[in-house]
Amino acid sequence: MKECILLIVKPDGMVKGLAGHVLRRFEETDLRLVGARLAKVTRELASTHYHHLREKPFFEELIRFIMGELNGGQDTVLAFAYTGEDAVRKARAIAGATNPEEADYRSIRGSFGRVTTKGVFENVVHVSSDSIEGEREIKLWFRPEEITADLFPSVAADGRREWAEPAGPKTRTGPWPSETP
Ligand code: UDP
Ligand code: MG
Repeated sequence: MKECILLIVKPDGMVKGLAGHVLRRFEETDLRLVGARLAKVTRELASTHYHHLREKPFFEELIRFIMGELNGGQDTVLAFAYTGEDAVRKARAIAGATNPEEADYRSIRGSFGRVTTKGVFENVVHVSSDSIEGEREIKLWFRPEEITADLFPSVAADGRREWAEPAGPKTRTGPWPSETP
């Protein structure tokens, strides 16, 4: 099945100089690159991206990590959108297991990730967990005109394009942070 995924080179990957390596590994697949962006990670973007983990004890530390606060203030990350057959499985195989200590040593996370003393998995890359999350995350990180393929419908609004079905009710995996009491 054709799927879409968001790949992020996280702040630890950026400061370790692994962006080129990560891109190279993905270039070796048959996945098609359809979006690329250097993104500043604000608290709002970070907590929306990881909203499914907001009840976890490590949430605040995870937000600090993705905002670059554990990596010398590296607050920009590289975000890539890919599409292709079986994209989730292929991309997650390259990334490796979430915990770098359990990841295959040939994977990106197994080769270059680490667990901090506070228990955060500094695991170099983010890859969407499934195709529903892939759609939600691509719509969150990219504007329609930044995606070079017809992945999802968009509409004209105030002279620019918006996602026709924003990363909201249809695609979310739980309530948005603003909806929680
Ligand atoms: N994470 C962590 N400790 C955990 C679980 C997750 O630090 O016990 C971090 C880790 O950086 C992970 C991110 O939270 O990549 C998102 O977690 P998720 O369960 O979505 O894993 P992923 O889809 O990234 O493999
Ligand atoms: Mg995930």
